[in-house]
Amino acid sequence: MTQKWAPETVVVETARPTREHDAPLNPPVVLSSTFIGTASLESGGIQYGRYGNPTWEPLEQALAELEGTALPGLVFASGLAAVSAALELVAAGGTVIMPQHCYLGALTGAQDSAAVGRFELVTVDIADTEAVNTAVSAAAEQHAGTARGVLLWLESPTNPMLEVADLPALIAHAKGLGVITVVDNTFATPLVQQPLAFGADVVVHSVTKYLAGHSDVVLGAAITSDAQLREALHHHRSMKGAIAGPFETWLALRGLRTLALRVERSQANALELAERLSEYPGIEVRFPGLEQDPGHERAAAQMTGFGAILCIVLPNGQSAECVAEQVELWTPATSLGGVESLVERRRRHESEPETVPEGLLRLSVGIEHIDDLWSDLRQALDTALTGDTAGSS
Ligand SMILES: *Cc1c(COP(=O)(O)O)cnc(C)c1O
Repeated sequence: MTQKWAPETVVVETARPTREHDAPLNPPVVLSSTFIGTASLESGGIQYGRYGNPTWEPLEQALAELEGTALPGLVFASGLAAVSAALELVAAGGTVIMPQHCYLGALTGAQDSAAVGRFELVTVDIADTEAVNTAVSAAAEQHAGTARGVLLWLESPTNPMLEVADLPALIAHAKGLGVITVVDNTFATPLVQQPLAFGADVVVHSVTKYLAGHSDVVLGAAITSDAQLREALHHHRSMKGAIAGPFETWLALRGLRTLALRVERSQANALELAERLSEYPGIEVRFPGLEQDPGHERAAAQMTGFGAILCIVLPNGQSAECVAEQVELWTPATSLGGVESLVERRRRHESEPETVPEGLLRLSVGIEHIDDLWSDLRQALDTALTGDTAGSS
């Protein structure tokens, strides 16, 4: 799809009310549980607030434009509600293949479904293209003849290990075997990575993170260029009921207006921090923007930037915990993608996979001044690693 405007312009320009005298510049929030009419449910229209809300449409249009499809996106109550709807696309008794490291809620939800026999779950090292393709081929053979028998779940870079999947190669292989591909594009945002252009069937987002961007909304979205899959996702939303609140949707569109600026600044901050941190003795830095990172070449080939999540690995859980306690500007908290920088020791969660190092800290880099972010982090590292409470180095 050729776009008239660049994505930086689209986020500002799109999804406005029709230009006419005294029309509002911004779409309104519509608070109504019911919509007037006498026709049958099947005849279309909104009818009832679980089936639609005019407040959803501008955001759904904007997300479709940004991900590169003419079909409107679908907003959901949360990122995980969109994830759950996408996981439901696989046939009963089918197989879902997922990265061993990916968003913990998605992994837990899939494990729960597998535990009750909804589908079989296979986890893979998503950076190992050959291993993933082998697993996909085996599952495709097992479910040959079953429509939507296999679903490949992709996330890149992964949470929290920041492994980079070869999206074009994995999607092409899966597509050739009729396997559905879903990409969680939350970390990258559509400004940095466009999975539908690689042939992915569905993209999901936690709108909570970069798209809304201000840590004041929980919201999700699914976007697809396949009309049948969209219908299935839409049906799921209407019938399972995980619908977006109008206020949240409105706030998310308001946040989206500055997405390009926020992503630009936080990516630049993350790259600079990663470089400074890689000079710091006694810690390991994971960030696909660093040339020495195993995912660097792949990320450079399929992304326009490297995102703004980076991880550092301290010698143990205790020193990592100490950093999270010593920071003054950075906020110790879960979540990511807001204007403010957050730091979290992931293994504080008992359900985090044991392959994630105890000393791993996930940093969500915000838009503050780089020197403030650096000096605060450095004093916390100095304290944690040398016990030097004066914070010099
Ligand atoms: C946060 C997140 C989710 C879940 O989204 P919620 O809005 O918290 O439900 C899914 N995937 C990724 C990568 C996330 O970071």
